Amino acid sequence: MIVGLDIGGTKIEGVGLVPNSETEIYQTLVTHREPTNKENYEGFLHSVMSVIDEVAKHGDIESIGIGCCGSVGNDGLMQGANVTVLNGQDFIGDLQKRIDVPVAIANDADCLALSEFKDGAAKDALSSCVAIIIGTGCGSGVVINGGLVTGLNKLGGELGHNPLPHFNPEKDGPAVECYCGSMNCTESFVSGTGLGRTFSEKYFEANSKEIMALVEQGDKQAIEHFDLYCDQLARVIGSIVNFVDPEIVVLGGGMSNVDAIYPRVQDKLNQYTFTKSVRTRVVKNLHGDSSGVRGAAFLHSI
Ligand SMILES: [Zn+2]
Repeated sequence: MIVGLDIGGTKIEGVGLVPNSETEIYQTLVTHREPTNKENYEGFLHSVMSVIDEVAKHGDIESIGIGCCGSVGNDGLMQGANVTVLNGQDFIGDLQKRIDVPVAIANDADCLALSEFKDGAAKDALSSCVAIIIGTGCGSGVVINGGLVTGLNKLGGELGHNPLPHFNPEKDGPAVECYCGSMNCTESFVSGTGLGRTFSEKYFEANSKEIMALVEQGDKQAIEHFDLYCDQLARVIGSIVNFVDPEIVVLGGGMSNVDAIYPRVQDKLNQYTFTKSVRTRVVKNLHGDSSGVRGAAFLHSI
């Protein structure tokens, strides 16, 4: 059994997966959730171990992968985690002292890419896919030659903080500063939060869900703005195609559930790629909310 853990701000979810030779999709043997103890690091470690112990009751664990906001810095210590008691701690080292199987860690976008490449929406890709999360924020995970690209600085796939390609204030609205300090970050436009922000600046206060409800009702302003959103997303994917040229781009996160995105973005993609007959497909994820925890389980298998 391979085990994946998804560490979130409110809960820690663990799954045990086993291969199913008939469907070629890994089957969930056990799922267990516990609230995240954020009071102190020892308490946090205890809640992680408690999930692992519960999952271990259902089979022998071969490996553990952890999907977590934040990353391991060059000094081996955690940084940028939203569960702040983790920051500055040797989390993987401390877990390894308690468990005698390999442990690896990656962020949620990397886990989405792995999960979908392994047995999800990008299963048919021979060697490459890029997964983009368009939810509260925006990030991506890159699989090339069948392996995850995390990079020297663990920044592989951090496209949310590159500037939006072809930014034009007449089309995209006034320049905006991101919390990271840069101007016109991609995340400020194509995340669900970004869609709400750009619409609210132009028309009236509304979040992404309210905007999409207006689109469904046939509201002209909302439809026009949604078309701009798809254009912005096509620009982002176009720049990925020009750089990495993946076989499949998988979307995840809240906005990926909007089915109208796919044909529109696919139509617009050729406008933003160097070759105008691009075959890269933009598709919805298959495993939905489970992708994070599934992808974590696959961290050792690709
Ligand atoms: Zn930024």
